[in-house]
Amino acid sequence: MAYSYEAQVSQTLFDRASLVTPGGVNSPVRAFRAVGGTPRFMVSGTGPYLTDADGREYVDLVCSWGPMILGHAHPEVVAAVQDAVARGTSFGTPGEGEVALAEEIVSRIEPVEQVRLVSSGTEATMSAIRLARGFTGRAKVVKFAGCYHGHVDALLAAAGSGVATFGLPDTPGVTGAQAGDTIVLPYNDLEAVRAAFAAQPGEIACVITEASPGNMGVVPPLDGFNAGLKEICAADGALYISDEVMTGFRTSRAGWYGIDGVRPDLMTFGKVMGGGFPAAAFGGRADVMAYLAPAGPVYQAGTLSGNPVATAAGLAQLRLLDDAAYAKVDAVSAELRTLVGDAFSKEGVAHTVSAASNMFSVFFTDEPVRDYEDAKKQEAFRFTAFFHSMLSQGVYLPPSAFESWFVSTAHDARAVERIAAALPAAARAASEATA
Ligand code: PLP
Repeated sequence: MAYSYEAQVSQTLFDRASLVTPGGVNSPVRAFRAVGGTPRFMVSGTGPYLTDADGREYVDLVCSWGPMILGHAHPEVVAAVQDAVARGTSFGTPGEGEVALAEEIVSRIEPVEQVRLVSSGTEATMSAIRLARGFTGRAKVVKFAGCYHGHVDALLAAAGSGVATFGLPDTPGVTGAQAGDTIVLPYNDLEAVRAAFAAQPGEIACVITEASPGNMGVVPPLDGFNAGLKEICAADGALYISDEVMTGFRTSRAGWYGIDGVRPDLMTFGKVMGGGFPAAAFGGRADVMAYLAPAGPVYQAGTLSGNPVATAAGLAQLRLLDDAAYAKVDAVSAELRTLVGDAFSKEGVAHTVSAASNMFSVFFTDEPVRDYEDAKKQEAFRFTAFFHSMLSQGVYLPPSAFESWFVSTAHDARAVERIAAALPAAARAASEATA
């Protein structure tokens, strides 16, 4: 399919990038491979808008894949960053900013008694798994197909040929040994979890799950799923790890824990807590966290962990996220979901708008989507046509049918109107699309 609208400067930059960087990008989904066309190189962001290198403005429904919950360049976050930068950018010593950010996290999320700051969500989940293994003295890890926990070797395993008890490496470079202790199960299937525990009692260190998955599109846990995981783990002496890198500080003040109230042993965070900078964390039960160096024997470290600029940005953002802010994000999400659903209904496009609090995505099917297999059954080719129509009309969506859309407190009536104006033609493009 050819797309006629112009992105000449972005294309030139992409050509340059492709010479010096594999695939021209520093994170794969940015490359537009799933939808085709030229990735847009952004030069600035303000509130709900992004401007690309060709000078075109977009309403942003990616929000940096979640972090920008206050919109771009929020003045108070920018001021906090400027203030921190002026005092030096990294000391390699403890500093008050990291204590304040840790205190903010602990005060918001009751199961987090102690927290360790790191620089990415990947580091957070990798370290949480190591800690769970060190604490329990067990090797095996349960994860769910379609859940993404960063590019941790052991967590890139997916259930290749339905062999639930052996994780098959999903990417070259991950060895069988690294993936061999990973058990991949279908999401939302407690019977499969019970069976895995029954087959290897006392061997599973932890179950890690996205608190509410957003990496296969938005597929919320069925009622009782997370509580069931917790119960099964507790009965066997395994740890229940809730990955809130995406949902944390976004779906409510206390993330998904604030919605389902199921108390994890360990939790992981990232995205929103960094205010657009590399800051992430893992935390939870004090007796488990006490196993972490230098308090305990499980090693974990980082040159830039708790970086003063990143923690200043994160703290400024979190302090602005009060109940009114969440109410605003929830309201704009609800309004957009209605607009999107109506546009597809008008064009007779089979679809499901799937939401978890203010995170949402569209599946091009009217069948229920409860796991990755269901998600893959959608008519994803319709998304390609929809995406490019929206892009050409100045709305920037995630360039994949299997990603959550994100909104911010900055998405005001004008931004919503621009999305609403783009939807009819985009829904028509989706309805006319062929596989
Ligand atoms: N966990 C979840 C649920 C995520 O969505 C992501 C990233 O999208 C990660 C972990 C990895 O975070 P990072 O990209 O910061 O390494």
